[in-house]
Formats: sequence, structure tokens, C-alpha cells
Amino acid sequence: MSEPHVVIVGGGFAGLGVMQKLTDVPVKITLIDQNNYHTFQPLLYQLATNELDANQVGFPMREMMHRQDNALFHQARVTDIDLDKKAVLLENMEPIVYDYLVVGLGAVVNFYGTKGAEDYAYPLYTMRDALLLKAHINRVLEAVDKNPALIDEGALNFCVVGGGPTGVETAGALSELLHAVADKDYPNLPINEQAQVILFEAGPKLLGPFKPKLQKYAKKALEKLDVTVRLEEGVSEITPTSITLRSGEVVKTHTLVWGAGVQAHPLAKSLGVEQVRGGRIPVELDLSLNGRPEVFVVGDIALITDAKTKKPLPQLGSVAQQAGRHVGKNIERLVGGKPTEPFEYLDKGTMAAIGRGAAVVQMPGHGSMTGHAAWLAWLGVHVALLAGGEEKSSTIVDWGWNILTQKRGKRIMLTDEDFEAAIKTSEKRESTQGNE
Ligand SMILES: Cc1cc2nc3c(=O)[nH]c(=O)nc-3n(C[C@H](O)[C@H](O)[C@H](O)COP(=O)(O)OP(=O)(O)OC[C@H]3O[C@@H](n4cnc5c(N)ncnc54)[C@H](O)[C@@H]3O)c2cc1C
Repeated sequence: MSEPHVVIVGGGFAGLGVMQKLTDVPVKITLIDQNNYHTFQPLLYQLATNELDANQVGFPMREMMHRQDNALFHQARVTDIDLDKKAVLLENMEPIVYDYLVVGLGAVVNFYGTKGAEDYAYPLYTMRDALLLKAHINRVLEAVDKNPALIDEGALNFCVVGGGPTGVETAGALSELLHAVADKDYPNLPINEQAQVILFEAGPKLLGPFKPKLQKYAKKALEKLDVTVRLEEGVSEITPTSITLRSGEVVKTHTLVWGAGVQAHPLAKSLGVEQVRGGRIPVELDLSLNGRPEVFVVGDIALITDAKTKKPLPQLGSVAQQAGRHVGKNIERLVGGKPTEPFEYLDKGTMAAIGRGAAVVQMPGHGSMTGHAAWLAWLGVHVALLAGGEEKSSTIVDWGWNILTQKRGKRIMLTDEDFEAAIKTSEKRESTQGNE
């Protein structure tokens, strides 16, 4: 009898966790992702602010699978899932039939219907988002260099929406970029005097799920970095050169970074169950889909309830990774004729970095850390989570270099024309090959 076919859709923390746990299990695995790389989302803001490079935040899927003899990878976009036919439907590729399916497609940005957000906000959830934001920041600074009158039009006002970890980390890093790097890159511009980063949060506090002590620390640390924190201020409209707050106030800006929320991946609908809390799929305690023991849903797309506490778990990389490994273990059990086991999350703490030498860490139980110790813990955890040895060492070297020198080295930008020419050449080559 042939080995059972496990199809994993989504090569994020969850999908990779499943695959790695199944390394030595007698199954045939097919991993599918629309990108040929895994994205390390927690460091996207460092890519956008020139601190790290794309190849330190993304890791080639195929390379990660060199030691995974029982798995194949396809770079393909999933368009639908047919649970009755046990098939995954793909763009430009034949459907793939499974014995076990793992859905780990993650989440997508949620603009909550904010007017103009789709067109003019800069979300920060994918590699593409981070690269677009990075290019935009560089373009704005170059435009101001050529035409300083743009300063009066708000070009040096960099706005961030969302006081969660993404917004807090991005606001801090943006301010450091402006005041430690851009001020030297553009000595002719009044960056230190006039550039400002403004963080808007609709609620009364930053870092909602953290302890009040850590929330206060985060606000103070941001203010020390010259970030203006505006609490209880929601954004209701975005245009290319301004944002309108819910109070009616208009703020001139050419940059609005959106870190205000996510919703489950739209393909969650194809699973045909009632979606809850931002479109997430509620799963059984063993992480399978209700009534479909051969289908598992993990990571940000799922609403996972901790079997121990009976509480829903947050959309975090650590939850996705542990849940993914648990699904791998459960598939191994099913293949071996054993029953599945419920998932219990091991909370190792949550953290957010606010700038160099400033971070907050909320440990399980009552413990917490701030300042340098917390920042070192943040650094250690993120280095440990990075995928390959090569990436780990180059990231450590780059971080170390940036910290020692207060410099950032990733500011080379291709122009739009360069990108267009590269895409056209590649398309031409593909069509020529197709005709041969
Ligand atoms: C800016 C940011 C900062 C964060 N910081 C932290 C942090 O510090 N600590 C922490 O624990 N968590 C953090 N998180 C959360 C963490 O990154 C997520 O919880 C985690 O990535 C979820 O993993 P996942 O596998 O469910 O989804 P993802 O990692 O999003 O993976 C989903 C995969 O599915 C693929 N995919 C999507 N659609 C398709 C399709 N149609 N066809 C094929 N493939 C598809 C995607 O390309 C992607 O590779 C952060 C998130 C963001 C956005």
C-alpha cells in the first residue's frame, strides 16, 4: 500500500511546523505556497526600515526542504479546497488530491472598510508590503530632497495606525531611521527638526494584551524616540497626502503604515463552516476540522482553543509553530492507527521591541522585563526562530554592525523602470521558451 499523502497549504510558521514534525514519518508530503520563500513576519518592519535585507527575512522553501526526503514543494496559488473530493485546487496547475490536508494559509490585512486604505495605506504583513513601504519611504525622502516645499505638504510626517506590537515596533524603527540615519543622508534637510512619526491607536492604551506597567513603559520609550503617541484616535479616511481622524481632524502625511489588524485568509470560506472572530475557523481540540478528521486547520487562519485553559489562543508565530508541530504529531498518530491528542500551548512569553535597547517582555505567570534585558531577550528569541544557520549569522552580524555604528546599509533601490524592464525580460524569455 502506498504511503498516505499529506498536503500542506501555506508554508508559514504553522505549515513548516507540520512538515518538520513529519520528517521521519512514512508519509508523502506536498507543501504548497504562493511564494518560493517562507516569510519571517516578525521582522518585516526591519526590512521596511532598512535594518535587514529581504534574504534575512525570507528563506527559500526549496532550500529548507533539502533534508526533508519525504516532501515536495510547489510554488502555486491555492484557489479553492474541495473537501468532498479531497482536492486542493490550484492556479495554473492540476488539482492535488490528499489523504490528509493541513490548511495554514494565515491571515490577511483588515482595513475595516476604512475609506482610501486599500489604495493609499501601507500594510506590513507580507514581504511585498515591506519592500513597497521601504521603497516609498526612500522615494518620499528623495522627493523632499528635490523639492523641500513638500515638507509643508506633510511629506515628513510618517503616520502609523495601530498600537499593537506591529505598530509600536514600526513607529520606533521609523523614528530611529529618520533621526539616526536619514538626518545624515540628507544633511540639507531639516529632518531632526521637522520629520515626525505619529502613532495613532483607537483604544486608550498601547500593546493591549500586555500588563499596564509594560504599556506605560512602551509609551514612554516611544516618546523618548520622538514618536508622538496619540491614543483614542482612530483613522477614518486616507488620501495620498492626508489622513482624517475620527474626530474630523486632518493630518497632512504622505505615509500611513497600517498595523491595525488582520482577518483570516479569504479561503477560510471554502471550508464551509461558520467563521468567528475575524473570519477564523474554529477547530476541535486536536486541531482538526469539525466532522473532517482528515483535515487540520492551524495558525492565524484558525481559532484554536487551548485544551488546558479552554481559552482561545492569540494569532502569534509561537502558537502557529507549536500547533503545527502538534498537527504533525497527530497525523503520525493517525497513520500509526492511534487516536489524536488535544493541543496544549506552552506559553513562553510575549514581547515587543520598541527600539535599540528598549523592549517589553511579558513572561508566563506574573514576570515581566523592560529595557536592555528585555531587548536582549527579544534579540535572542528572534535569532533562535530564524530559519537557516546562514541567515542567523548574517542577521546577527548586520544587527551588531547597525548597533555599533548606528548605520544601516540596505538603502540601494532599483527604480520602477529597472523593475519593469526585469519583469518584461523574464516574461519574454518565458514566452519564447513556451514556443520552442
Ligand atoms: C508585522 C508582524 C509582526 C509580528 N510579530 C510577531 C512576534 O514578534 N511574535 C510572534 O509570535 N508573532 C508575531 N507575528 C504573528 C506571526 O507572524 C503570525 O502569527 C504567524 O506568521 C502565523 O503563521 P501562519 O503559518 O498561520 O501564517 P503565515 O506565516 O502568514 O503563513 C501563511 C502562508 O500561506 C501562504 N499563502 C497565503 N495564501 C496562499 C494561497 N492562496 N496559495 C498558496 N499559499 C498561500 C503565504 O504565502 C504564507 O507563506 C507578527 C505578525 C506580523 C504581520
